[in-house]
Amino acid sequence: MARKIGSRYTAHQILGRGSAGTVWLGEGPEGPVAIKLLREDLASDQELVGRFVQERTALLGLEHPHVVSVRDLVVDGNDLALVMDLVRGTDLRTRLERDRRLAPEAAVAIAADIADGLAAAHAAGVVHRDVKPENVLLDMQGPLGPGGSHRALLTDFGVAKLIDTPRRTKATKIIGTPDYLAPEIVEGLPPRASVDIYALATVLYELLAGFTPFGGGHPGAVLRRHVTETVVPLPGIPDELWQLLVQCLAKAPASRLRASELGARLRELLPMLAGMPPLEVDEPDTEQAEEADREEQPAGPAPAGERVRRRGAVPLVPGAKPADSNRDTHTSMRVPAPDELAGGAHGTARAPRTPGAPRPGSARNRAATRRRRAALGAGAVALAAAVGVGAWLSTSGDDASTPPQDTKNSAPHSP
Ligand code: ADP
Ligand code: MG
Repeated sequence: MARKIGSRYTAHQILGRGSAGTVWLGEGPEGPVAIKLLREDLASDQELVGRFVQERTALLGLEHPHVVSVRDLVVDGNDLALVMDLVRGTDLRTRLERDRRLAPEAAVAIAADIADGLAAAHAAGVVHRDVKPENVLLDMQGPLGPGGSHRALLTDFGVAKLIDTPRRTKATKIIGTPDYLAPEIVEGLPPRASVDIYALATVLYELLAGFTPFGGGHPGAVLRRHVTETVVPLPGIPDELWQLLVQCLAKAPASRLRASELGARLRELLPMLAGMPPLEVDEPDTEQAEEADREEQPAGPAPAGERVRRRGAVPLVPGAKPADSNRDTHTSMRVPAPDELAGGAHGTARAPRTPGAPRPGSARNRAATRRRRAALGAGAVALAAAVGVGAWLSTSGDDASTPPQDTKNSAPHSP
Protein backbone atom coordinates (compact mmCIF):
# COMPACT_ATOMS: atom_id res chain seq x y z
CA MET A 1 0.00 0.00 0.00
CA ALA A 2 2.55 2.53 -1.16
CA ARG A 3 1.53 6.15 -0.90
CA LYS A 4 3.18 9.23 -2.40
CA ILE A 5 4.08 12.01 0.06
CA GLY A 6 5.01 15.13 -1.87
CA SER A 7 7.08 14.58 -4.99
CA ARG A 8 10.09 13.00 -3.30
CA TYR A 9 8.84 10.44 -0.81
CA THR A 10 6.90 7.21 -0.79
CA ALA A 11 5.34 5.77 2.37
CA HIS A 12 5.35 1.98 2.42
CA GLN A 13 4.09 0.66 5.71
CA ILE A 14 2.96 1.90 9.08
CA LEU A 15 5.62 1.76 11.78
CA GLY A 16 3.49 3.11 14.57
CA ARG A 17 0.68 5.38 15.52
CA GLY A 18 1.08 8.31 17.84
CA SER A 19 -1.00 11.14 19.19
CA ALA A 20 0.02 13.58 16.46
CA GLY A 21 -0.31 11.17 13.57
CA THR A 22 0.89 8.00 11.94
CA VAL A 23 4.54 7.13 11.35
CA TRP A 24 5.39 5.33 8.13
CA LEU A 25 8.45 3.53 6.90
CA GLY A 26 9.25 5.39 3.71
CA GLU A 27 11.72 5.91 0.97
CA GLY A 28 13.27 9.17 -0.18
CA PRO A 29 15.97 10.21 -2.63
CA GLU A 30 18.63 9.38 -0.01
CA GLY A 31 17.26 6.06 1.13
CA PRO A 32 14.91 4.84 3.87
CA VAL A 33 13.23 7.41 6.11
CA ALA A 34 10.49 7.60 8.71
CA ILE A 35 7.57 9.80 7.70
CA LYS A 36 5.21 11.20 10.30
CA LEU A 37 1.95 12.08 8.64
CA LEU A 38 0.20 14.53 10.92
CA ARG A 39 -3.41 13.97 11.95
CA GLU A 40 -5.99 15.39 9.58
CA ASP A 41 -7.32 17.93 12.05
CA LEU A 42 -3.80 19.22 12.60
CA ALA A 43 -3.01 19.21 8.87
CA SER A 44 -6.16 21.17 8.05
CA ASP A 45 -5.38 23.85 10.62
CA GLN A 46 -4.17 26.81 8.57
CA GLU A 47 -2.42 28.42 11.51
CA LEU A 48 -0.51 25.25 12.19
CA VAL A 49 0.48 24.90 8.56
CA GLY A 50 1.81 28.45 8.65
CA ARG A 51 3.83 27.71 11.75
CA PHE A 52 5.04 24.48 10.21
CA VAL A 53 6.57 26.42 7.34
CA GLN A 54 7.83 29.14 9.66
CA GLU A 55 9.60 26.62 11.93
CA ARG A 56 11.20 24.86 9.00
CA THR A 57 14.70 26.10 9.53
CA ALA A 58 14.76 25.57 13.29
CA LEU A 59 13.40 22.06 12.93
CA LEU A 60 15.65 21.07 10.06
CA GLY A 61 18.79 22.54 11.57
CA LEU A 62 19.11 20.11 14.45
CA GLU A 63 21.63 17.36 13.77
CA HIS A 64 23.10 15.32 16.59
CA PRO A 65 23.85 11.63 17.28
CA HIS A 66 21.17 11.66 20.01
CA VAL A 67 18.48 13.56 18.15
CA VAL A 68 16.20 12.08 15.51
CA SER A 69 16.80 14.61 12.76
CA VAL A 70 13.92 16.06 10.80
CA ARG A 71 15.12 16.00 7.22
CA ASP A 72 12.21 17.54 5.42
CA LEU A 73 8.79 19.03 5.93
CA VAL A 74 6.19 18.29 3.31
CA VAL A 75 3.04 20.28 2.74
CA ASP A 76 1.18 18.56 -0.07
CA GLY A 77 -2.54 18.96 -0.58
CA ASN A 78 -4.12 17.70 2.60
CA ASP A 79 -0.94 16.04 3.79
CA LEU A 80 1.39 17.56 6.33
CA ALA A 81 4.39 15.37 6.95
CA LEU A 82 7.69 15.37 8.81
CA VAL A 83 10.38 13.30 7.17
CA MET A 84 12.77 11.96 9.80
CA ASP A 85 15.80 9.74 10.15
CA LEU A 86 14.67 6.16 10.38
CA VAL A 87 15.54 4.56 13.71
CA ARG A 88 15.50 0.78 13.64
CA GLY A 89 14.49 -0.23 17.10
CA THR A 90 11.85 0.53 19.64
CA ASP A 91 10.82 3.37 21.88
CA LEU A 92 11.78 3.61 25.53
CA ARG A 93 8.20 3.14 26.75
CA THR A 94 8.05 -0.28 25.07
CA ARG A 95 11.36 -1.21 26.67
CA LEU A 96 10.16 -0.05 30.08
CA GLU A 97 6.94 -2.02 29.73
CA ARG A 98 8.97 -5.14 28.98
CA ASP A 99 11.60 -4.73 31.72
CA ARG A 100 9.71 -2.62 34.25
CA ARG A 101 12.99 -1.25 35.67
CA LEU A 102 16.39 -0.85 34.08
CA ALA A 103 19.75 -1.49 35.72
CA PRO A 104 21.16 1.87 36.90
CA GLU A 105 24.04 1.74 34.41
CA ALA A 106 21.72 1.33 31.41
CA ALA A 107 19.24 3.88 32.76
CA VAL A 108 21.99 6.45 33.30
CA ALA A 109 23.54 5.77 29.88
CA ILE A 110 20.18 6.43 28.20
CA ALA A 111 19.59 9.58 30.27
CA ALA A 112 23.09 10.81 29.41
CA ASP A 113 22.38 10.34 25.70
CA ILE A 114 19.20 12.34 25.99
CA ALA A 115 20.95 15.05 28.01
CA ASP A 116 23.54 15.37 25.22
CA GLY A 117 20.78 15.63 22.60
CA LEU A 118 19.06 18.28 24.68
CA ALA A 119 22.31 20.21 25.11
CA ALA A 120 22.61 20.51 21.33
CA ALA A 121 18.97 21.58 21.00
CA HIS A 122 19.17 24.11 23.82
CA ALA A 123 22.33 25.59 22.32
CA ALA A 124 20.32 26.10 19.11
CA GLY A 125 17.53 27.78 21.07
CA VAL A 126 15.09 24.89 20.81
CA VAL A 127 13.18 23.61 23.85
CA HIS A 128 11.68 20.15 23.40
CA ARG A 129 8.79 20.49 25.88
CA ASP A 130 7.63 16.88 25.71
CA VAL A 131 10.52 14.72 26.94
CA LYS A 132 9.09 11.32 27.96
CA PRO A 133 9.86 7.64 27.28
CA GLU A 134 7.50 7.62 24.28
CA ASN A 135 9.67 10.23 22.60
CA VAL A 136 12.96 8.39 23.13
CA LEU A 137 13.85 5.89 20.43
CA LEU A 138 16.43 3.15 20.95
CA ASP A 139 18.65 2.28 18.01
CA MET A 140 18.87 -1.49 18.10
CA GLN A 141 21.07 -1.86 15.07
CA GLY A 142 24.00 0.18 16.27
CA PRO A 143 26.69 -0.92 18.77
CA LEU A 144 25.71 -1.41 22.40
CA GLY A 145 26.66 1.20 24.97
CA PRO A 146 27.32 0.96 28.74
CA GLY A 147 25.30 -1.71 30.54
CA GLY A 148 24.25 -3.20 27.20
CA SER A 149 22.09 -0.16 26.49
CA HIS A 150 21.18 0.88 22.99
CA ARG A 151 21.94 4.35 21.72
CA ALA A 152 19.05 6.62 22.64
CA LEU A 153 17.71 9.37 20.41
CA LEU A 154 15.20 12.04 21.28
CA THR A 155 12.40 12.50 18.78
CA ASP A 156 9.45 14.84 18.25
CA PHE A 157 11.54 17.99 18.54
CA GLY A 158 9.50 21.04 17.93
CA VAL A 159 6.26 19.12 17.55
CA ALA A 160 4.94 20.47 20.85
CA LYS A 161 5.72 23.96 19.65
CA LEU A 162 4.07 23.38 16.31
CA ILE A 163 0.86 22.17 17.90
CA ASP A 164 0.97 25.04 20.36
CA THR A 165 -0.71 27.55 18.09
CA PRO A 166 -2.34 30.43 19.95
CA ARG A 167 -5.78 29.15 19.05
CA ARG A 168 -5.09 25.61 20.18
CA THR A 169 -3.43 26.54 23.44
CA LYS A 170 -4.13 29.98 24.84
CA ALA A 171 -1.75 31.69 27.23
CA THR A 172 -3.56 29.95 30.06
CA LYS A 173 -3.29 26.48 28.56
CA ILE A 174 -0.60 23.93 29.17
CA ILE A 175 0.91 21.67 26.59
CA GLY A 176 2.77 18.56 27.66
CA THR A 177 2.29 15.30 29.51
CA PRO A 178 1.23 15.60 33.18
CA ASP A 179 3.75 13.16 34.68
CA TYR A 180 6.70 15.04 33.16
CA LEU A 181 5.57 18.67 33.50
CA ALA A 182 7.85 21.02 35.39
CA PRO A 183 6.19 22.95 38.24
CA GLU A 184 6.81 26.33 36.62
CA ILE A 185 4.70 25.29 33.62
CA VAL A 186 1.89 24.33 35.98
CA GLU A 187 2.24 27.79 37.46
CA GLY A 188 1.93 29.41 34.07
CA LEU A 189 5.49 30.42 33.25
CA PRO A 190 6.77 30.07 29.70
CA PRO A 191 8.69 26.85 29.04
CA ARG A 192 12.46 27.35 29.09
CA ALA A 193 15.24 24.83 28.62
CA SER A 194 15.05 23.82 32.30
CA VAL A 195 11.63 22.20 31.75
CA ASP A 196 13.37 19.61 29.59
CA ILE A 197 15.84 18.90 32.41
CA TYR A 198 12.99 18.34 34.87
CA ALA A 199 11.26 16.01 32.41
CA LEU A 200 14.48 14.11 31.76
CA ALA A 201 15.11 13.67 35.50
CA THR A 202 11.54 12.35 35.76
CA VAL A 203 12.28 9.85 32.99
CA LEU A 204 15.49 8.75 34.72
CA TYR A 205 13.64 8.26 38.01
CA GLU A 206 11.04 6.22 36.14
CA LEU A 207 13.69 4.04 34.48
CA LEU A 208 15.16 3.30 37.91
CA ALA A 209 11.95 2.96 39.91
CA GLY A 210 9.37 1.72 37.42
CA PHE A 211 7.08 4.69 38.10
CA THR A 212 7.31 8.46 37.89
CA PRO A 213 7.84 10.53 41.05
CA PHE A 214 4.57 12.46 40.88
CA GLY A 215 2.34 10.42 38.57
CA GLY A 216 -0.85 8.51 39.25
CA GLY A 217 -4.52 9.31 39.33
CA HIS A 218 -6.21 12.38 38.01
CA PRO A 219 -4.09 14.70 35.84
CA GLY A 220 -5.04 17.63 38.08
CA ALA A 221 -3.66 15.81 41.12
CA VAL A 222 -0.47 15.06 39.22
CA LEU A 223 -0.02 18.72 38.29
CA ARG A 224 -0.50 19.77 41.88
CA ARG A 225 2.08 17.26 43.17
CA HIS A 226 4.71 18.75 40.85
CA VAL A 227 4.26 22.06 42.61
CA THR A 228 3.79 20.96 46.20
CA GLU A 229 5.36 17.54 46.84
CA THR A 230 8.90 16.38 47.49
CA VAL A 231 10.38 13.46 45.60
CA VAL A 232 10.54 10.19 47.58
CA PRO A 233 14.05 8.67 47.79
CA LEU A 234 14.63 5.33 46.08
CA PRO A 235 16.04 2.56 48.29
CA GLY A 236 19.56 1.47 47.37
CA ILE A 237 20.24 4.30 44.93
CA PRO A 238 23.87 5.51 45.03
CA ASP A 239 24.00 8.88 46.71
CA GLU A 240 25.74 10.70 43.84
CA LEU A 241 23.01 9.63 41.46
CA TRP A 242 20.28 10.58 43.90
CA GLN A 243 21.80 14.05 44.37
CA LEU A 244 21.75 14.61 40.62
CA LEU A 245 18.11 13.55 40.43
CA VAL A 246 17.10 15.79 43.30
CA GLN A 247 18.92 18.74 41.79
CA CYS A 248 17.26 18.31 38.41
CA LEU A 249 13.82 17.80 39.96
CA ALA A 250 14.22 21.07 41.89
CA LYS A 251 11.07 23.18 41.93
CA ALA A 252 13.14 26.27 41.08
CA PRO A 253 14.20 26.07 37.41
CA ALA A 254 17.44 27.94 38.09
CA SER A 255 18.56 25.25 40.55
CA ARG A 256 18.55 22.54 37.90
CA LEU A 257 21.66 21.59 35.98
CA ARG A 258 22.10 22.54 32.36
CA ALA A 259 21.82 19.74 29.84
CA SER A 260 25.52 19.61 28.95
CA GLU A 261 26.54 19.43 32.59
CA LEU A 262 23.93 16.82 33.39
CA GLY A 263 25.17 14.66 30.50
CA ALA A 264 28.76 14.92 31.69
CA ARG A 265 27.90 14.22 35.34
CA LEU A 266 25.79 11.20 34.40
CA ARG A 267 28.61 9.74 32.30
CA GLU A 268 31.03 10.20 35.19
CA LEU A 269 28.80 7.90 37.26
CA LEU A 270 28.77 5.07 34.72
CA PRO A 271 31.90 3.19 35.92
CA MET A 272 30.60 3.17 39.49
CA LEU A 273 27.25 1.75 38.38
CA ALA A 274 28.67 -1.06 36.23
CA GLY A 275 27.14 -4.42 37.06
CA MET A 276 24.64 -3.06 39.57
CA PRO A 277 21.28 -4.85 39.32
CA PRO A 278 18.00 -2.94 38.97
CA LEU A 279 16.92 -1.29 42.23
CA GLU A 280 14.51 -3.24 44.35
CA VAL A 281 11.66 -0.83 44.65
CA ASP A 282 8.19 -1.85 45.77
CA GLU A 283 5.53 -1.00 43.30
CA PRO A 284 3.39 1.67 44.88
CA ASP A 285 0.45 -0.14 46.45
CA THR A 286 -2.13 2.27 45.24
CA GLU A 287 -5.14 1.32 47.28
CA GLN A 288 -3.33 0.72 50.56
CA ALA A 289 -1.29 3.87 50.30
CA GLU A 290 -4.34 5.88 49.46
CA GLU A 291 -6.15 4.42 52.44
CA ALA A 292 -3.22 5.16 54.74
CA ASP A 293 -3.00 8.65 53.34
CA ARG A 294 -6.55 9.33 54.24
CA GLU A 295 -6.72 7.64 57.63
CA GLU A 296 -3.51 9.04 59.03
CA GLN A 297 -3.94 12.58 57.89
CA PRO A 298 -7.48 13.50 58.80
CA ALA A 299 -6.94 17.25 58.99
CA GLY A 300 -4.31 19.90 59.36
CA PRO A 301 -0.86 19.95 57.81
CA ALA A 302 0.80 16.56 57.71
CA PRO A 303 4.22 16.20 59.33
CA ALA A 304 6.92 16.07 56.67
CA GLY A 305 7.90 12.51 57.61
CA GLU A 306 4.37 11.30 57.09
CA ARG A 307 3.97 12.82 53.69
CA VAL A 308 6.98 11.17 52.15
CA ARG A 309 5.45 7.79 52.91
CA ARG A 310 3.34 8.11 49.82
CA ARG A 311 5.10 6.74 46.76
CA GLY A 312 4.84 8.14 43.31
CA ALA A 313 2.00 6.62 41.40
CA VAL A 314 -0.78 6.78 43.92
CA PRO A 315 -4.18 7.75 42.64
CA LEU A 316 -5.78 10.48 44.65
CA VAL A 317 -9.12 9.85 43.09
CA PRO A 318 -10.74 6.62 44.29
CA GLY A 319 -11.00 4.14 41.47
CA ALA A 320 -8.55 5.94 39.25
CA LYS A 321 -5.59 3.76 38.33
CA PRO A 322 -2.14 4.87 37.31
CA ALA A 323 -1.15 4.32 33.70
CA ASP A 324 -4.23 6.03 32.37
CA SER A 325 -4.15 8.57 29.59
CA ASN A 326 -1.76 10.76 31.62
CA ARG A 327 1.09 9.82 29.37
CA ASP A 328 -0.53 11.31 26.31
CA THR A 329 0.56 14.73 25.28
CA HIS A 330 -2.17 17.08 26.39
CA THR A 331 -2.85 20.17 24.40
CA SER A 332 -5.71 21.65 26.35
CA MET A 333 -4.81 21.65 30.02
CA ARG A 334 -5.40 24.95 31.68
CA VAL A 335 -2.96 26.62 34.03
CA PRO A 336 -4.50 26.48 37.50
CA ALA A 337 -5.09 29.74 39.35
CA PRO A 338 -2.88 30.36 42.40
CA ASP A 339 -5.70 29.65 44.85
CA GLU A 340 -6.39 26.36 43.09
CA LEU A 341 -2.76 25.44 43.52
CA ALA A 342 -2.67 26.35 47.19
CA GLY A 343 -5.08 23.48 47.64
CA GLY A 344 -6.20 21.80 50.82
CA ALA A 345 -4.46 21.35 54.11
CA HIS A 346 -1.82 18.95 52.76
CA GLY A 347 -1.41 20.55 49.39
CA THR A 348 -2.72 17.46 47.59
CA ALA A 349 -6.13 16.82 46.16
CA ARG A 350 -7.95 14.20 48.14
CA ALA A 351 -11.55 13.26 47.72
CA PRO A 352 -12.89 12.87 51.25
CA ARG A 353 -14.73 9.65 51.99
CA THR A 354 -18.14 10.43 53.37
CA PRO A 355 -19.03 8.55 56.57
CA GLY A 356 -20.50 5.15 55.73
CA ALA A 357 -19.12 5.20 52.21
CA PRO A 358 -17.18 2.10 51.19
CA ARG A 359 -13.41 2.01 51.66
CA PRO A 360 -11.31 2.01 48.56
CA GLY A 361 -10.46 -1.54 47.56
CA SER A 362 -13.56 -3.12 49.10
CA ALA A 363 -15.81 -5.18 46.86
CA ARG A 364 -18.58 -2.68 47.44
CA ASN A 365 -16.34 0.14 46.40
CA ARG A 366 -15.08 -1.65 43.32
CA ALA A 367 -18.66 -2.10 42.20
CA ALA A 368 -19.37 1.53 43.02
CA THR A 369 -16.30 2.53 41.07
CA ARG A 370 -17.46 0.58 38.05
CA ARG A 371 -20.84 2.26 38.26
CA ARG A 372 -19.21 5.62 38.69
CA ARG A 373 -16.94 5.08 35.73
CA ALA A 374 -19.86 3.99 33.59
CA ALA A 375 -21.84 7.02 34.68
CA LEU A 376 -19.01 9.39 33.94
CA GLY A 377 -17.98 7.90 30.64
CA ALA A 378 -14.88 9.79 29.60
CA GLY A 379 -15.74 11.62 32.76
CA ALA A 380 -12.68 13.77 33.31
CA VAL A 381 -14.61 16.95 33.82
CA ALA A 382 -17.16 15.59 36.29
CA LEU A 383 -14.56 13.57 38.16
CA ALA A 384 -12.33 16.58 38.33
CA ALA A 385 -15.09 18.70 39.77
CA ALA A 386 -15.47 16.12 42.53
CA VAL A 387 -11.91 16.68 43.70
CA GLY A 388 -11.92 20.40 43.13
CA VAL A 389 -9.54 20.51 40.24
CA GLY A 390 -12.07 20.47 37.45
CA ALA A 391 -11.18 23.93 36.36
CA TRP A 392 -7.68 22.77 35.54
CA LEU A 393 -8.76 20.82 32.55
CA SER A 394 -10.94 21.63 29.67
CA THR A 395 -11.63 19.49 26.69
CA SER A 396 -12.08 22.37 24.30
CA GLY A 397 -9.30 24.39 22.76
CA ASP A 398 -11.43 27.49 22.88
CA ASP A 399 -12.47 28.18 26.39
CA ALA A 400 -14.64 31.24 26.59
CA SER A 401 -14.45 31.27 30.38
CA THR A 402 -10.70 31.74 30.29
CA PRO A 403 -9.82 35.24 31.39
CA PRO A 404 -7.77 37.22 28.89
CA GLN A 405 -4.06 37.00 29.57
CA ASP A 406 -0.89 38.40 28.23
CA THR A 407 -0.56 36.36 25.07
CA LYS A 408 3.16 37.04 24.97
CA ASN A 409 3.50 34.34 27.60
CA SER A 410 2.64 31.63 25.17
CA ALA A 411 5.19 32.63 22.60
CA PRO A 412 8.80 32.48 23.79
CA HIS A 413 10.53 29.13 23.89
CA SER A 414 14.14 30.13 23.97
CA PRO A 415 16.23 28.73 26.81
P1 ADP B 1 3.43 10.76 18.53
O1 ADP B 1 4.54 11.56 19.08
O2 ADP B 1 2.66 11.49 17.50
O3 ADP B 1 2.58 10.18 19.61
P2 ADP B 1 5.51 8.92 17.90
O4 ADP B 1 6.55 9.86 17.45
O5 ADP B 1 5.65 8.40 19.27
O6 ADP B 1 4.08 9.54 17.73
O7 ADP B 1 5.45 7.72 16.86
C1 ADP B 1 4.68 6.57 17.03
C2 ADP B 1 5.53 5.34 16.80
O8 ADP B 1 6.15 5.38 15.52
C3 ADP B 1 6.68 5.21 17.79
O9 ADP B 1 6.31 4.51 18.92
C4 ADP B 1 7.74 4.47 17.00
O10 ADP B 1 7.54 3.09 17.13
C5 ADP B 1 7.47 4.87 15.58
N1 ADP B 1 8.44 5.91 15.16
C6 ADP B 1 8.35 7.23 15.38
N2 ADP B 1 9.40 7.89 14.85
C7 ADP B 1 10.20 6.96 14.30
C8 ADP B 1 11.45 7.01 13.59
N3 ADP B 1 12.09 8.17 13.37
N4 ADP B 1 11.98 5.84 13.19
C9 ADP B 1 11.35 4.69 13.42
N5 ADP B 1 10.17 4.57 14.07
C10 ADP B 1 9.59 5.69 14.51
MG1 MG C 1 5.94 11.25 20.20
